[in-house]
Amino acid sequence: MTTNPDVLVIGAGPSGLTAATELRLRTGASVVVLERERTAGGIPRHSDHIGYGMRDLHTVTTGPRYAARLVDAALDAGVELRTGTMVTAWTPETGAECTSPAGHSRLRGRVTLLATGARERPRSARMIPGGRPAGVLTTGELQNTVHLHHRGAGTKAVVVGGELVSWSAVMTLREAGCETVAMVTRHARPESYGVFNLGGRAMFRTPLATHARVTQVLGRHRVTGVELEDSRTGERRIVECDTVVFTGDWIPDHELARAGGLALDPGTRGPLVDALGRTSHVGVFAAGNAVHPVDTADVAALGGRHAAGAIARFLAHPDSPAWGGGLRIEVAAPLRWASPGWFHPHLPPARQRILTWSEEYIGAPTVTVSQAGAVIGRRRLPWPASPGRVFRIPWSLLTGAVPGAGPITISL
Ligand SMILES: Cc1cc2nc3c(=O)[nH]c(=O)nc-3n(C[C@H](O)[C@H](O)[C@H](O)COP(=O)(O)OP(=O)(O)OC[C@H]3O[C@@H](n4cnc5c(N)ncnc54)[C@H](O)[C@@H]3O)c2cc1C
Repeated sequence: MTTNPDVLVIGAGPSGLTAATELRLRTGASVVVLERERTAGGIPRHSDHIGYGMRDLHTVTTGPRYAARLVDAALDAGVELRTGTMVTAWTPETGAECTSPAGHSRLRGRVTLLATGARERPRSARMIPGGRPAGVLTTGELQNTVHLHHRGAGTKAVVVGGELVSWSAVMTLREAGCETVAMVTRHARPESYGVFNLGGRAMFRTPLATHARVTQVLGRHRVTGVELEDSRTGERRIVECDTVVFTGDWIPDHELARAGGLALDPGTRGPLVDALGRTSHVGVFAAGNAVHPVDTADVAALGGRHAAGAIARFLAHPDSPAWGGGLRIEVAAPLRWASPGWFHPHLPPARQRILTWSEEYIGAPTVTVSQAGAVIGRRRLPWPASPGRVFRIPWSLLTGAVPGAGPITISL
């Protein structure tokens, strides 16, 4: 077993696995991937429906098949994959402290890639009052229960959220024989793509509660219902159910980045990175949903591949300059964050896209990029900005920025 590999990857989801494979194929460096779950593959392992692999593998397959393909590719490339290994502490100086059935171990790479993904905020973090009955889950917990442990999920569910992942929850509930009696969103429409909203509603006949929020979870031992409030009228009503699934509302799994003293981006709440995935610490990179919660698996994988290119260059030239030396990218409301957080005129980000997150729905938004009060780029984009999903902006809109002239601001 390698104790101090060239590259230590934490997290065996699409971004970590793809980066590890790419590094082995490009450089022959020793690469160890640590994964806390017993099986590698990240979220797609338990997301048993079609919709994975379009942009990276040029196919459309189910989550578990997609995960298995990424794992096979990593093993074939000679990546050392250690599953059942939880990184409990990490700093760039001391490396990773790991706990596994084999006991404790410590591991330090010349380079570390944080690919720990993101998680949905559970009910407790959403501060929703009421009892503490059984039957309250996130989508991840629901899919683990149904797809990995083959257990049921009640008979009537309320799904909180209207993102892509929310439809994934509805689909899993149906497979488990549980009817979705309401999909609740605080917005005027579900945040998912129009085609998913139409398709989802036609297929599942899910009643929508828009402009609504859950004000209370009811029940003592098992959920008996939720109280909903209409934000326009203040009116409250009870919806009876025995299951509540809190979906979306993502936060990066940033504990290690925080513990390691990396600069965090106050917008994404993940580690602040430049276009190459470099963090504030030389030799530490980050990729995937750990950086920008939350995008599709193929985009996370391509982000991992992009970071692998930068890591390969770093391994060959460890004296290459650290991040900085670029321009900070800032956003104006309704945008909440932009990723990467740094712009450099000669370093395009993965897929030449700046990823952003909007708090409001705008059908065909005009994106304005300015610096020091002057507009340096403006374009109307044909795709909508919508809460609950990443809004992608072409990098070329920023390339007129002047080095040394201060931060760049993106607005809609
Ligand atoms: C319900 C649902 C449905 C989805 N449907 C689709 C879809 O149809 N198509 C699509 O393209 N995308 C879909 N996505 C999104 C996609 O799954 C994610 O974008 C993708 O998995 C992100 O990859 P990642 O590598 O960044 O993170 P993850 O897949 O989250 O992987 C991170 C890994 O890091 C591990 N880890 C974290 N911390 C530690 C630690 N301290 N020690 C060791 N290991 C650690 C985790 O266990 C995990 O395996 C869906 C997501 C969800 C939740």
